[in-house]
Amino acid sequence: MRVLVSGGAGYIGSHTVLALLEHGHDVVIVDDFANSKPTVLGRLETLSGKTIPLHAFDLTDADKTEHLFASEKFDAVIHFAGFKAVGESVEKPLDYYRNNLDSTFSLLRAMTRHGVDKLVFSSSATVYGDTAPVPYHEDYEPLSASSPYGRTKVMIERVLTDVATITDGFRVALLRYFNPVGAHPSGMIGEDPQGIPNNLMPFIAQVAVGRRDKLRVFGDDYPTKDGTGERDYIHVMDLAAGHVAALEHLPTMDEPVRAFNLGTGEGTSVLELLHAFERAVGHELPYEVVERRAGDLPAYWADPTRAQQELGWQATHTIDDMCADTWRWQSENPNGFPEG
Ligand code: UDP
Repeated sequence: MRVLVSGGAGYIGSHTVLALLEHGHDVVIVDDFANSKPTVLGRLETLSGKTIPLHAFDLTDADKTEHLFASEKFDAVIHFAGFKAVGESVEKPLDYYRNNLDSTFSLLRAMTRHGVDKLVFSSSATVYGDTAPVPYHEDYEPLSASSPYGRTKVMIERVLTDVATITDGFRVALLRYFNPVGAHPSGMIGEDPQGIPNNLMPFIAQVAVGRRDKLRVFGDDYPTKDGTGERDYIHVMDLAAGHVAALEHLPTMDEPVRAFNLGTGEGTSVLELLHAFERAVGHELPYEVVERRAGDLPAYWADPTRAQQELGWQATHTIDDMCADTWRWQSENPNGFPEG
């Protein structure tokens, strides 16, 4: 298929671009580099041995989006583009709602106008809110989220469902990611957060490389195996493979919309992840236990059965793989991608 990948220069997008190329798909990237660097493109071309067409603009620009679809033919879209920082979304809710929703509206408008009817959407386990039973199952309702970022995911899932339901032949896969970590095994691409990382794995990696003094563990009095929060960490290479599986499944799907959890089905605590990272680095890493972070849930993980049964997809990488690959990327690129 010829696939337009929005946000293809980002963390999950870039790994998925490689997986798509490896599976024989043609890829076109649209990205405005709001939260990524253009130098990722050269790395993707080196790794794939292919030239990857790029359109550098903001999808909220409906005219430019329309022009792209008028001038090129696509079989499908994988829509990663969007703002994704939970804390920032609380500070700047309007920016989040405007950016994440408007870009989706532009895309949907152009897709329906030009007969592009296959879409894979980057959703998140955050749509299960704070009352869903663990493990999370795709049929849980009602969806809700505790941050404006998360609410954009809930809203976009709703919009896509409504549009697909009334558009003949339209097929949408909603991929609900758990906690993506890890990097390409080459060490050439990986997660490159701007500023102080909010997420656990990039923070640990920056402690290991000497960019941060120590990890702050947000609470050790949760009702979990060791008192620290448990999450379902999933290797970004598995996640990328999940997108290819979903894309290839779309033409055979009976319903217009289907949600799939992309997780391993296993919970790992903050201290377990830290200790796995210490094994990858070969020495202990400094940490201190501090107050719980507001809004954090104690523990959740996926029920990944549906993706296994319907997409034929399953996560295969272990926590040690995730740490080893993150460490290779971080140690070989201590400051992330070069400016260009
Ligand atoms: N966490 C932590 N210190 C940090 C960042 C995260 O202890 O500097 C904990 C957090 O409380 C949660 C887990 O690590 O239990 C995963 O947090 P992350 O922000 O990576 O993902 P999310 O909260 O979105 O699941």
